[in-house]
Amino acid sequence: MSADEDPDIARAADLLGRAERVTVLTGAGVSTDSGIPDFRGPQGVWTRNPAAERLSTLQAYVEDPEVRREAWRQRAVHPIWDARPGAAHAALVDLERSGRLVALLTQNIDELHQAAGSSPDLVVELHGTMHHTQCLSCGARAPMGEALARVAAGEDDPPCPRCGGVLKSATISFGQALDAGVLMRARRAPVDADVLLAAGTSLGVHPAAGVVDLAAAAGAAVVIVNAEPTPYDDVATVVLRGGVSGILPRLVRDLTG
Ligand code: NAD
Repeated sequence: MSADEDPDIARAADLLGRAERVTVLTGAGVSTDSGIPDFRGPQGVWTRNPAAERLSTLQAYVEDPEVRREAWRQRAVHPIWDARPGAAHAALVDLERSGRLVALLTQNIDELHQAAGSSPDLVVELHGTMHHTQCLSCGARAPMGEALARVAAGEDDPPCPRCGGVLKSATISFGQALDAGVLMRARRAPVDADVLLAAGTSLGVHPAAGVVDLAAAAGAAVVIVNAEPTPYDDVATVVLRGGVSGILPRLVRDLTG
């Protein structure tokens, strides 16, 4: 049993302590304390400006050059570029060091898990990464810095340097399919775990949120850590309502010696 005074945290820590295989699902809430706003939280980008959701829609991005110009303006000054990993990211590195981590499925596109020290092999980026661009026509990938240098030099909608196609961050927009290999790992990892830990996610986006159903159906215990209620709270074994930066370090404290 964990030494934590909070009985729910102690129960969740105990589940993790007994588990041999843990799969983690993270969302934007894991990075808000690093200065990157989420989309759907009380201070979220879409909560404050519902029209911003259009920027994340593939069809609008392809059809409307003004959507692309606005997307490039926002990418150029995005808080991702200055963000540093925080206590929640560090706690998940500790979880990996305890030898239990099967996979760290993340909806985040900020690469902060890898920056904190999580093994790139175990991090599955469900929605891609903002640190690269990808051409929607020929598929060519390149570091985001190359495109942002062109934006800084005056190109407001830089096309693919190889084929002239529409260039976008290598992230998954609404209307865009997830990578098949990524999807396969995302479906296997929850089934392969004794515990699924979902942290900092509204669990409102599929197929990512379906990971919880897969884990529960396979008999895994489900621990949800989030500031707000989620649609999956009644499926969870333990729900911890609060900030991930405070809670995750307490969950893993007793796992590493
Ligand atoms: P979301 O915006 O839908 O939900 C985030 C959840 O985290 C909310 O329920 C919010 O209450 C909670 N939260 C915020 N800060 C928290 C904290 N410090 N502690 C505990 N909970 C906290 O995000 P999502 O479920 O991850 O999915 C939305 C999509 O947004 C994904 O597709 C993702 O790619 C994208 N996104 C990514 C980033 C990033 O990479 N950092 C940032 C914004 C959006």
